[in-house]
Amino acid sequence: MIDWNEIGVIPLTDARGVTKQFNTETHRGLDIGWYKNQYCPVLAWQDGTLIAKGYSGEVGYWCVLEHRYTTGKRWVGYIHLYNAITSAIGTQFKMGEKIGNAKRGNTGYSNGTHLHIYMTRIVPLYEEFVWNSTTNKLSEYAIDPLPHLYYDKQYNTEYIAPSWSRPLPERITYPKPVKRDESKHQCEIRSDTRRLRNAPSGTIYDEMCLKGIYNVYKETEKDGYKWALIDTIDNREFWVAVMDGEDLPVTDYKALYEAEKQKNKQLTAQFELAQKNAKELNVALSVANKKIQDAIKVLK
Ligand SMILES: [Zn+2]
Repeated sequence: MIDWNEIGVIPLTDARGVTKQFNTETHRGLDIGWYKNQYCPVLAWQDGTLIAKGYSGEVGYWCVLEHRYTTGKRWVGYIHLYNAITSAIGTQFKMGEKIGNAKRGNTGYSNGTHLHIYMTRIVPLYEEFVWNSTTNKLSEYAIDPLPHLYYDKQYNTEYIAPSWSRPLPERITYPKPVKRDESKHQCEIRSDTRRLRNAPSGTIYDEMCLKGIYNVYKETEKDGYKWALIDTIDNREFWVAVMDGEDLPVTDYKALYEAEKQKNKQLTAQFELAQKNAKELNVALSVANKKIQDAIKVLK
């Protein structure tokens, strides 16, 4: 039985997969990994208040939100952020809302762009949020965040870079709702790939590129291949080798997107029903409790 109070959203706008799972001994959090849009906004896991923020050599820029719900509290640390949080302590965020200017980054002891989230049920001491490999204290408190993220598990078939579906329909960003635009020069990436290069036949980036349709900004031929420049981020160029593929059908992302949206609608309805049932159960429980207390008083 899922306690919906303890489920929140995946805290990124374009989360694509778990790159490192929780381990009590070696990794007391969850890494949500790279993608070419590496500086994407970080979202509040649930409704919560910013209670701490800072910078340390180990975790880089970080912040902590306190999340309250009917059955308890939860603290979530958002770590390796790209920049310092400018929001004031005490600022409140809604579930799925951007945490101020927080972006996924690679600061601190991190060897690739990812978001490390950290979750605990115990009141944390401020300094304990600073992850420290020599302190074992955190392992007593930290819990695996993965079961507390709302996503469609059937997609999560691979450990590295599984596809996630969005918890709420308006947050669906994938599959991309686009078809090839004939008026533009575009190419289709047919599966999630890491074969993005910094130049035609250059070094491969260790970053993900999602399947979808991309505009081609530049084209060239090198080493017997056609190459297309499909994106630039922070002055870095992302090149792919292109196959002709005229005979291949273009994937109907629009249809996939609609199917996804439909499924998410059902999931949201289930979610709301479960919340409603939980509320009703809570009310019934407190009425019953009161009756028991009254009966005990009478007996005394
Ligand atoms: Zn990590």
